[in-house]
Amino acid sequence: MIFLTKFKKYIISLSFVFFALFSTAYAEVIRVTIDAGHGGRDFGASNRGLKINEKTLTLQMAKKLKKYFEQDKHFKVFMTRESDKYLELKDRVKIAQKNNSDIFVSIHVNYTNHKNVYGIDVFVQSPKRIRDEVQRFLNNKAVIKSDELGFLGADLKHNSKMDSFLMFALLDSVYEESKKMATKTLESIVRNKFPLHDKSKRASMDKVKEQGLQVLVAPNIVSVLVETGYLTNNNEGKKLKQASYQNRLMKSVYLGVKNYVNKHQNNLISLRKVREPFSPKQYYRVKKGDSLFAVARKFDVSVTNIKEWNHLRKSTIYPNQKLRVK
Ligand SMILES: [Zn+2]
Repeated sequence: MIFLTKFKKYIISLSFVFFALFSTAYAEVIRVTIDAGHGGRDFGASNRGLKINEKTLTLQMAKKLKKYFEQDKHFKVFMTRESDKYLELKDRVKIAQKNNSDIFVSIHVNYTNHKNVYGIDVFVQSPKRIRDEVQRFLNNKAVIKSDELGFLGADLKHNSKMDSFLMFALLDSVYEESKKMATKTLESIVRNKFPLHDKSKRASMDKVKEQGLQVLVAPNIVSVLVETGYLTNNNEGKKLKQASYQNRLMKSVYLGVKNYVNKHQNNLISLRKVREPFSPKQYYRVKKGDSLFAVARKFDVSVTNIKEWNHLRKSTIYPNQKLRVK
């Protein structure tokens, strides 16, 4: 009997540990940045007959995708743009970095000279180019501008060999995770009966098109780029204009990302920790009369961000307090 009681106690405490592990893992909020491709003077692809262009469609779809993520407490969503605004690629990455994003989802519409070509593609960014650049930098053969890398250029200068190994590991892990997320996204798109551009793409996710490299420049964040179809194909173009089609397609993208997160959330959480030393930071010494809101506005970040970075429970700040503001 005594043995049984002890055994019971053991089981109970063990299940508490499991519960704690499970519940903390599940309670982690995953931060997603959604990127509506193009915008402002950059129209992207267009179809004159259908009177529609890419920048309009990507914004409409990104907003729908945002709604799906917002309805899910597991995610916190950020957008690179919410209006018809021109953004450089580096601006998009900066927004994702600033919000400490775990995931970056970019929405685009494709085009080609062949009007019969249609279907959806999902791309990931190969770390090869960025690996080469970092290697050249380490060999003192090139100067890397942080804008070109989309992250951490300034910090790298002072970093040790150890840090550079860590960075290569980070780039490779992000690539592996991005492939998993892209595969889940593709699976969801197929499951929901949307046409893929080229069925062979499914089998070889390693193949990344050049244009994918151009528009996807956050090598330290798990990212996918969804080409939602061909605007140059009249049939697909018409569908892409429909709100109901956009909703269904974005729901399947959301479900794909969610499937990935459900399975590999712990990897995303680990990547946060690896990324941290490489993320650009800035500190500010609080002056008399400063409010948290005013400081947030001064550095163009959210109050929530500052509270998180500084582990603040309340919004009260004190003169001479050192705050991380970026
Ligand atoms: Zn595009």
